[in-house]
Amino acid sequence: MNIDAPGRAWPSVNDMGQPVVYVSPFVPPEWIAAHGMQPRRLVPRAPAMRGMREGQCPFAWQAAASLTATPQPLGNPAAIILTSTCDQMRRAAEIVQARTPSPVFLMNVPATWRSDSARGLYADELARLGLFLQHCGGRQPGQGELAALMLAYERARIALKAAQPMLSAREFARLLCELGSCDAGQLDGFQRAISDACGQQGQRAAGGIDLAIVGGPIAQGELAILDAIELAGGKVVLNACESGQRCLPAPLDAQAASADPLAQLRRMYFDSIPDAFRRPDSLLENYLRTHLAGSGARGVVLIRQVWCDLWHAWTQRLGGLCPLPVLDVVLGDSPEGTTSATNRIQSFIEILRR
Ligand code: SF4
Repeated sequence: MNIDAPGRAWPSVNDMGQPVVYVSPFVPPEWIAAHGMQPRRLVPRAPAMRGMREGQCPFAWQAAASLTATPQPLGNPAAIILTSTCDQMRRAAEIVQARTPSPVFLMNVPATWRSDSARGLYADELARLGLFLQHCGGRQPGQGELAALMLAYERARIALKAAQPMLSAREFARLLCELGSCDAGQLDGFQRAISDACGQQGQRAAGGIDLAIVGGPIAQGELAILDAIELAGGKVVLNACESGQRCLPAPLDAQAASADPLAQLRRMYFDSIPDAFRRPDSLLENYLRTHLAGSGARGVVLIRQVWCDLWHAWTQRLGGLCPLPVLDVVLGDSPEGTTSATNRIQSFIEILRR
């Protein structure tokens, strides 16, 4: 297993069969698992500064770097799935396609989300992805198999959400990644992993300054930001980053899933996950308005990757959505990594404490 000190083990392909690697929360792992394959959610280990050019998103760049490295740290993926959710990811897909022998699938996730044609396009992409997986060595899902898998994943997500108050923000992010890397046979083990994590962490310390974190993806090596919040006396009561509950799919309707599981997948993922790339952005706006108000947070930390235009636009928007003070933290903009951000977080929490 990969060990990302000071955290615990993240999923590693060394522990599994040939994986199907994906990055975006808009790719349902249950759909990969239904083809008898091993979903493997990639969260890059560290932001890549070397070779990165002005204007490049460190997260997308590092995802591409991980997928094209020699020797391949991700083993030899049976397939790689990237999404069209932003220009930087589209470019990462082009780079990966050109530089890796593994087959690459660029999944078109429309930015617009309200029209029937956009929903139909996402459903068509799921169907196209299924054929692609079969072409890469997967099998056609058996009758009722997808619906049964969706139920098993749903149980695991419910258990993870219930455990969240007892977990550090880093541990929740690690388990979320682990869930996205489970195949059908590993979901029972995942429930045990949640219990173990809760047992090892014990009850999180009561008190502290309640904070919400909002933003895009965070590389494993950048999760020190979350530790810094907690070490400085903050408590993350809402994680609306890509490593948090914002990017969990909507709850499953088991009855509807047994009738039409692909339509349910579309509803749970495409219709429901709010993100900065979606247009209109009212899905994200409504999510943040509701959840920030309900969280009891006293401040908001916006965590974004340098050169990410989509989340940069929210530096101004957030202030208008809620009356809370907002700290803007930019990742990947200096070789010092998260050190200066850590200092600013400490000061922010000190001010909120007064
Ligand atoms: S952080 Fe922004 S630019 Fe980078 S991959 Fe995510 S949405 Fe794209």
